[in-house]
This record gives sequence, structure tokens and C-alpha cells, in this order.
Amino acid sequence: MDQQIFAPKPENALGPWDVAIIGSGPASLTAAVYTTRGAASTLILGGESWGGQLMLTTVVDNYPALPDIQGPELMQKMREHATRFGGEFLEKNVDAVDLEKIPFELTAGGQKYLARSVIIATGAETQWLGVPGEDKLRGRGVSSCAPCDAPFFKSKSVVVIGGGDSAMEEALVLTKYATTVTIVHRRSEFKASAAMQKKVFDLESAGKIKIIWDNQVVEFVGEQKLEKVKIKNVKSGKTSEMQIDGAFVAIGHVPSSEIFKGGVELDEKGYILLHDYTKTNIPGVFVAGDVHDYHYKQAVTAAGFGCMAGMDALKFLDEQK
Ligand code: NDP
Repeated sequence: MDQQIFAPKPENALGPWDVAIIGSGPASLTAAVYTTRGAASTLILGGESWGGQLMLTTVVDNYPALPDIQGPELMQKMREHATRFGGEFLEKNVDAVDLEKIPFELTAGGQKYLARSVIIATGAETQWLGVPGEDKLRGRGVSSCAPCDAPFFKSKSVVVIGGGDSAMEEALVLTKYATTVTIVHRRSEFKASAAMQKKVFDLESAGKIKIIWDNQVVEFVGEQKLEKVKIKNVKSGKTSEMQIDGAFVAIGHVPSSEIFKGGVELDEKGYILLHDYTKTNIPGVFVAGDVHDYHYKQAVTAAGFGCMAGMDALKFLDEQK
């Protein structure tokens, strides 16, 4: 999209702000620090459940200068920092966007908000297995967040599905509550970092974690709540059942880009495509964090991308003057 029409202000719309940032994880909040320090009026549409994935995690030990902080505390600090220089934070979900004209128009909770530039920092959400019983039993034994739900499984048996850092982390949290924690992984080795694997293998040696290799969960079974999981050995094809109280799905994430379909260019998995650093295909619309980054997916890299997007938005605004 090369040409843009500068449109009159629609009735009942608020703004325009210089920058509207959609999302409220590390990418969004870092972008806001930069845009507000650059004297650009900034609206953060942070979502009803603000803060992103770090709100669902426990200890974060890989954010520079904060070697031992809880995820939600880190996000609270970032939020305070983002609003310190005048950023306005709204806990509202953006339902629709019109990015065909400037000012861009974002609709959240029936209200239209206008902005001369937009930074998309909507992050990514849980990837579910998509097997029978999963939807029905979500919140009734099937979960994706051990830090949120582990206390419900005190003295119970749980499985964790996946072999990445998320699965290791979920399993470690669950050992503090559940009697039996079993990791079911579809291969015979984990892809998690060596440090996380070591923690899990140490607990396996101590008898606190069991690992079932080469198996896929193919069904969640239960009426009112989860009772069993059916698993299938990917090598032999043999299926078996496990009596279980809880199942934690930790197999990765999908980008939160649904509302941008048809306007912003996405790849086949829905990640937003970069055009020259943080630019999207639409001039004045930038992107930062997990909604485009399927490779690093770290809080610190998201914050770095947020910084870049904030600086790129400021440059764009300067060029429009
Ligand atoms: P990953 O993509 O790293 O791992 C996903 C895991 O789920 C893989 O083991 C994969 O199997 C498995 N999987 C994927 N799809 C399926 C499926 N359909 N059925 C069964 N298994 C499946 O995602 P994570 O969420 O674990 O991690 C994402 C990023 O976040 C990583 O960069 C990670 O390092 C980071 N992270 C860091 C943490 C920390 O440092 N404390 C904590 C959590 C995450 P396979 O191995 O066969 O591909």
C-alpha cells in the first residue's frame, strides 16, 4: 500500500494520538517508553487481560539486571515505566482496525480511536492440540497455565504435553503441588534449553517427574471434568489410557494477528511480515514482538523490537510534518 488518503475525523472518534500501540507485553510497553520520551502522544490499547504471556509465568531469570523477578511483577514495572512519561493505558481489546487511511482508526469496546501511526504488539497465544475433548474440558482439568492453575491440582496426578522450555517450566511448577507429574512428548528428546532439561531430569531422578517419550495425546476423556488422556505411541501406533486429574498443554503459541488479516501482510502461519526492520507493508504501521518473531520469542528481544518500533514510529511522524 503506497498511497494513503488523509481522512477527516469521523464522528464520535477520540484522538488522534501520534501513536497507538496495540498490546501490552514487553514489546508494547518498551515502544511506549520510546514514543513518549520522544514527545509523541501515545495511547496503549493493552487488552482486557493486559501484560501478555509473562503474566502467566513465575520466575523470570533471564531479563538483564533483574535476575530473579516474578513475571507479573516485571510487567507491572514495565507498565509503570510506559506511563511515566505520559503514555495513556486502556485495558480494552481492539476489535477492528481500519488501516487504509490516516489517521488510522482502531475500534475497542465500540469506541473509535484515531492515531497517526500504529505499533502492533499483540503477541501470541497458546497453541492447543486440537484433539477430541480438549475444547470441552478446557478449564475443567485441561489448562495451558501451570502458574495459574497448579494449586487446583494439590496431591493429584497431572500430565504436561510438550518438549520445549514452556513444558519444562510447567512441569517444574506442578511438582510443587501435584503428586505425580508426567511429561508426554512426541519425540525421544526435548528441544528445551540444557538448563531447563537439567532441572527436569534432576527431578526425574528424584522420582518427582516421569517422562513418556514418543507419545502423542490423542484425546481428553471426561464428562464434567478430565478423567483420562488417551495417548498413542508414534513408533508402534499402540494406544493406551492414563487416569489423570489435570493436563497442561505446552506446545507453543500462535500469533495474535486475526484482526489484521486482509490489510497487514501475514505469512502462512499468521505472523506479521517485516518490511525493513519494524515496518509492515503499510506506511505508518509498525510491528514488534511475538506477533512477528517466531524465532527468539524472549521478553528481552520483544522489548528490543519495541524500542525499534517506537523509534521507527517517531521517525515516520517526523517525516509527515
Ligand atoms: P517451543 O516451540 O520451543 O516447543 C514446543 C514443543 O511442543 C516442542 O517440544 C514440540 O515438539 C512440541 N509440539 C509442538 N506441536 C505439537 C503437537 N501438535 N503435539 C505434540 N507436541 C507438539 O515452544 P515453547 O512454548 O516451549 O517455547 C517458546 C519460546 O519461549 C522458546 O524460545 C523458549 O526458549 C521460550 N521460553 C523460555 C522460557 C524460559 O527461559 N524460562 C520459558 C518458556 C518459554 P518437537 O520438540 O517435536 O518440535
